[in-house]
Amino acid sequence: MKEKKQNLHNHTIYSDGSFSWEQLVREAEKCDIGLLGISDHFFTSKVYHNISPSEWLSQKIPEYQALAEDIRAYSSGNSGYNGNIRKTKVLIGIEIDTVVSRTGLNIPDLPWSFINSLDYVLFEYLGEDDIRGTRLHEAKLIAEFCSIPKIIAHPNLDRLDCFYGIKACFDFLAEHGFAVEIPSGSRNDWFWNRFDPQLLKNMVLSIGTDTHEKLSEAGNINRALKFIEDNNLTENLIDL
Ligand SMILES: [Zn+2]
Repeated sequence: MKEKKQNLHNHTIYSDGSFSWEQLVREAEKCDIGLLGISDHFFTSKVYHNISPSEWLSQKIPEYQALAEDIRAYSSGNSGYNGNIRKTKVLIGIEIDTVVSRTGLNIPDLPWSFINSLDYVLFEYLGEDDIRGTRLHEAKLIAEFCSIPKIIAHPNLDRLDCFYGIKACFDFLAEHGFAVEIPSGSRNDWFWNRFDPQLLKNMVLSIGTDTHEKLSEAGNINRALKFIEDNNLTENLIDL
């Protein structure tokens, strides 16, 4: 489903968000969001302070699978307008920190059968530099394991440009089937006043606000949507 009023980057109390998925859905419905994605954090030491990676894998994955089932039950065949009230379609994704020192897992060792059972995956710090993130060439390795839609969360365009050249970077990501998130809301930097939006013309795009502690962020997609519409990129939005 191609939906321009979408927000695919939202955290819940499962990881470091402040709200349940149900609260996020209610807010999204109030804001006429057609497609909402829950994308809690995969294990990363920057979020899960009292649990080891192996405990996370054995305890938290089943919890997330149960959450995914609840979300699917909610969404199945039930989205769209009912009178004037829009029922939001909800998807279940996950956000993976690609810095191995924080996850304790190399890309081939990630639990791919669990990840691939979800609707999509966000990757953060991919291709930024060798200290702060996984090198860009590992996008190719990820593509070998990952069979669901892949999105680069809140890319730091300055760092990507500095290390790879932004055009070469986007070409590489497109070649390996990655979409790029256009960040909205108040949490993430906005780089598009320094880069040519036409660099995105061959990229698949998503909108995400990275909702954590402010409920209003679930519906706060206006900056990204305006940018996408003003630059005739609506057709590039991801089809989920
Ligand atoms: Zn996030």
